[in-house]
Order: sequence, then C-alpha cells, then structure tokens
Amino acid sequence: MKIKISNLANGTYDYLFEGNIDEIKITEPYCGKYKTEVVLTKFDNQMILDAETSIEANLVCDRCAIAFKKEISSRYRMVYLFESEIPDSEKDKTEVNYLHPDSEKIDISEDVKDYALLAVPMKKLCREDCKGLCYHCGKNLNEGECNYVVEKIDPRWEPLLKLKNK
Ligand SMILES: [Zn+2]
Ligand SMILES: [Zn+2]
Repeated sequence: MKIKISNLANGTYDYLFEGNIDEIKITEPYCGKYKTEVVLTKFDNQMILDAETSIEANLVCDRCAIAFKKEISSRYRMVYLFESEIPDSEKDKTEVNYLHPDSEKIDISEDVKDYALLAVPMKKLCREDCKGLCYHCGKNLNEGECNYVVEKIDPRWEPLLKLKNK
C-alpha cells in the first residue's frame, strides 16, 4: 500500500487499495479481502491523509455464541510533515508523521493494519438486540421462546413443606 509522493503537485488525490488481507498481514478476526480508500491532500510542507478501510471479520457473538461475519470499517487521519513544525490546529486531534522532504513514497500498510485492529469492537453482538441463550436450558432465544417453566411453589404451602422436611 505505497503511495508515490515524489514530484506530487499540491492538491487532492484519491487512491484505492484492494486485495487479500494476507498481503498486508492483517490477521484474526479479519478474513477475505480488504478495501482501503485514501484521500491525500498535498500542501507545500505537509500532507494530510484520510484512510477508510473495510474488511469482513469472523466474529463470535458474546451473548449467543454464534459465529457470524460482519464488515468492520475503520478510518484514520495521518498528517505527514515535511518540516518539523506542527500547525497548532493539528496538534491535538491528529497523529503526525515526519517525512524527509526528499521522500519518494509513503507506505500506509502498518497504519491501516493498526487502525483496523483497533476497530474490532470490544462487545461483539450478532445483532444489536440479540436475546442470547436461555439461562436454564441454553437454547438460543433468537430462534424462539424457551418453554422451560420454572416450578414455583405456592408461597402458602411453604411452611407446610418445611414441616414435612423436618
Ligand atoms: Zn447473538
Ligand atoms: Zn430455556
């Protein structure tokens, strides 16, 4: 995922990278193909790069334990500075990379990979309203209600039962 920047005139450029995830060494839980869209804006002393990546992932639902596939999108912004001075407006909100003014290209695979891995959700749900598994019998409640009936003793009989058990 390299972008040639030598002799790049000031302006905005679009790039599209597509391929198999093993080509950029992105691993679990991702699978299959990746697609990264890049918008690069070149100025005299810096470049601003916005990247958005979508990759399908193999996940297991935290509630019902079913395996499912989901496309995860991740995006990031990176500022490349040809000088050592960082504009105030960018100081807090972005990541910054320094580049030698004579650099010929940038390779974004590491950043794409890092941000893709960060984008994997902590809580993995097969769907927002996943009902999970039945507490009693383990049935997947997304497939229907459980018929398990909790045997409830009429509270009026409880004292009698206690006597009986003595
Ligand atoms: Zn689920
Ligand atoms: Zn049940």
